Amino acid sequence: MDFFHKTSISVFGILLLGIIIQYLKSKKINSMFEVNNIKNELSSIGSVLLIIAHPDDEIMFWTPTIKSLISYNIPMKILCLSNGNYDGLGVLREKEFDNVSRALNFTDNKILNIPELQDNIKKYWDPIVVSRQIEEFLNNNPDIKTILTFDKNGVTKHPNHISCFNGLKYYLKNHLEESKNKGLKIYTLDSFNFIMQYTQFFPLFSFIFKKYGYFSMTFFNSYKWMRLYKTQFNLLRKAHVILSCYSYYNSYTKIELKDI
Ligand SMILES: [Zn+2]
Repeated sequence: MDFFHKTSISVFGILLLGIIIQYLKSKKINSMFEVNNIKNELSSIGSVLLIIAHPDDEIMFWTPTIKSLISYNIPMKILCLSNGNYDGLGVLREKEFDNVSRALNFTDNKILNIPELQDNIKKYWDPIVVSRQIEEFLNNNPDIKTILTFDKNGVTKHPNHISCFNGLKYYLKNHLEESKNKGLKIYTLDSFNFIMQYTQFFPLFSFIFKKYGYFSMTFFNSYKWMRLYKTQFNLLRKAHVILSCYSYYNSYTKIELKDI
């Protein structure tokens, strides 16, 4: 096969992949919010709450989702359960979280610094305390109709990440009727282990066949927003935002309230 044919096939392959991804992207966004025309249905969608454990989780793992929601004008609010004070940089990281929130134009984000919810790689948080914080945030933001958070493996198996999932589950168990009446929808971010996350193949395969998810063509936004976390923007973080599958796609599992 000569060079021209090889190049033509490569270009055709890339174009085809792009078309498929764009199709899947629009299909997935509609299916996630279960509406046909997202722009005309905004009032019924309400706001989306993202629950994270540490300032920077939202950029490390959720950029494709954040980008998509911004482009569809769907309001998003982030509840960050700790100020990431493990290395004593909590006050600075709170400021960085505020800077990122401003860059994203998210005006209702909240970051906590309470004794029971401190950044600790060896400690699971009490689900009752997490649940209480979620309850308070939902009461203050009645427009929230969708909640996103980590799944039971918390991507990195960090106990604080897993505690977000456990705390939300505890909240839902104890506010089941209220959540059903409100039509609350819950989606957890699929976890991929270290090797899968950086080799990309399995997560991409999963993304294509999962019903719910968001896609980003580049790592540019992850890199740009991660830079605002100056205390965290070391070589490992730079490598993460360029190479990790979480800079390119988020796939979700829907948690049915009847299964809680
Ligand atoms: Zn984290």
